[in-house]
Amino acid sequence: MAIQKENGSVSIDAQNIMPVIKKWLYSDKDIFLRETVSNACDAITKFRMLHPDSEEPMAVTVSVDKEKRTIRISDTGIGMTDDEVRRYINQVAFSGAAEFMKQFEDKPEEKGDIIGHFGLGFYSVFMVSEKVEIETLSCTEGAEPVSWVSADGMDYEISAGSRTKHGTDIILHITEDEKEFLDTWRVREVLNRYCGYMAYPVMLEDANAKPMEKDVPVGDEKNEDGTPKTEKVLEMPKPQQINETAPLWLKKPADCTDEEYKAFYHKVFTDFDDPLFWIHLNVDYPFNLKGILYFPKLKNDFGTHEGQIKLFAGQVFVADNIKEVIPEFLMLLRGVIDCPDLPLNVSRSFLQNDGYVKKISAHITKKVADKLNGLMNTEREAYEGYWDDIAPFVKYGAIRDSKFHDMIKGSILLKKTDGKYETIDEYKAANFDKTDKKIYYTNDEKRQAASVKLYTDRGIEVAVMNTLIDGNFMSFMEYQGSEEDRITFARVDADIDGLKEESDEGKDLDAEKLQALFRGALGKESLEVKLESLGDPDMTAMVTEDEQMRRYKEMSRIYGQDFPIPDSYTLVLNRRNETVQALAARDPEDEETKMLCCQVYDLARMAAQPLEAEEITAFLERSRKILNRVVKG
Ligand code: ADP
Repeated sequence: MAIQKENGSVSIDAQNIMPVIKKWLYSDKDIFLRETVSNACDAITKFRMLHPDSEEPMAVTVSVDKEKRTIRISDTGIGMTDDEVRRYINQVAFSGAAEFMKQFEDKPEEKGDIIGHFGLGFYSVFMVSEKVEIETLSCTEGAEPVSWVSADGMDYEISAGSRTKHGTDIILHITEDEKEFLDTWRVREVLNRYCGYMAYPVMLEDANAKPMEKDVPVGDEKNEDGTPKTEKVLEMPKPQQINETAPLWLKKPADCTDEEYKAFYHKVFTDFDDPLFWIHLNVDYPFNLKGILYFPKLKNDFGTHEGQIKLFAGQVFVADNIKEVIPEFLMLLRGVIDCPDLPLNVSRSFLQNDGYVKKISAHITKKVADKLNGLMNTEREAYEGYWDDIAPFVKYGAIRDSKFHDMIKGSILLKKTDGKYETIDEYKAANFDKTDKKIYYTNDEKRQAASVKLYTDRGIEVAVMNTLIDGNFMSFMEYQGSEEDRITFARVDADIDGLKEESDEGKDLDAEKLQALFRGALGKESLEVKLESLGDPDMTAMVTEDEQMRRYKEMSRIYGQDFPIPDSYTLVLNRRNETVQALAARDPEDEETKMLCCQVYDLARMAAQPLEAEEITAFLERSRKILNRVVKG
């Protein structure tokens, strides 16, 4: 029965939606290629299901014709009967969208976010086309070819078509505004992004390509110099395959080699460095999830690093870094995740609350934790080798996700100034009897070297906490665990709790008098001066800075709120030290005494941090004077 020519309008729902599509899809126009090519792949899959033994070559061809101003997407798939065109193209396409519109009627601000990301299937072609034709022939016995034409997606005409082989051609007549899509390089770029791993070959063809001259050998004939004889022939450039149809993430992990993992990483993320290690996700139950997560070398520059997690739905690229599906802290990694069952054509706020999506997210987190714990427990040495690179990631993850923290607690390492690594429990066991539940650390090994040495000389280990995240991480750790388990972090110049030692030496010195002496000499009336018995008698004094105040100051600097915070320095004098004892006995009004006090103070400060410009000038001048006096006797 011949197909009757027929004009019609799509359903009322659709008419409401078209302006919305046109308006809101604006930012992501190029998804029309993803939608049409993935529909074409689906159509091939359906054909293969019906004809599993078919040996016909299966492919999607995207042909760009700049002269005719068209893009044609052809497939060798299942095709559609006229009835199916009516059902699938004219009606069904909008049912989901209509539902969605109803839901978001009063929340126009959310619409853009949602449609913009996921598109609305076939009708996205109207964002770039002034006319769309479908030429299709169903593979069912006796089916007749159908032609469907519409200028705006609302009024259409159906008539007898011209296709002779099963499959579908979608022909887009591109509008003047969107003529960039008539450049093959532009189309290639979009296809590479969205269709780079689709399941059937996606071929790109330039319909206006001219035949090109090519040298081809003439039989076995040779030139006089023995090289093969060739002649020039004109040849049409062949369509190029865009995609890889069997991406690595779909292979069984046992069948993948390290070289393949690395090559895939280099290619997808254009990073010349090798990744540190990776996790191959391969879940069939209770949901379908495949993917590979790579740990890149972060090189401590966590602040500037941007990860990239590419989300696919059944080999079709959806978007980068969809935070609803992938836990935020994992965004520091690089990888691909393929969730074929993801309900992507629903709203993002729905995704956020969807139990299924939550499960995926939790599963990924658990796999990452398992991998880290596995390395820690079975390949400790290798794990320590990775630690500097992965520490920012692990620490950030621990702060952001308490479940993740619970899982990887035992795999958090402290790097120490001796270059070795320890877990927090190991540090506790080795040091807490001497440190009053404190972890001593330095955030600048070179500058704080003298203070670090005070501790290491006493057998107390010092951790290196010098990455941007460490400030937050330490504050976070200080709130973990039960009250009695609580640890605190103290910079090596924060206090002297770990350096004190009982002794009778100098115990009769007058602390108040010494405080007055130093305050007067330094001209710092509010400086706190303490007299303590420190372990090393050669040590004259230390300047400590309250840990919490200092951290607060550093944080406000990082976040750009540089309001004045009062200094919280304390000068700690060692009563066991001869210089201190001698100074205590001197005339406080004597010029030389004052000079010596200033010198003690400056030297103590310099052990923790460099002096400011004018301070250093004063220090040098005073040092010269002292030298001069000593030399003269
Ligand atoms: P979805 O793909 O989400 O179902 P679309 O709007 O993209 O929504 O497509 C609507 C329907 O039109 C498809 O489900 C399919 O039945 C049909 N269709 C679209 N493109 C093709 C094609 N190339 N070959 C066969 N059927 C197609």
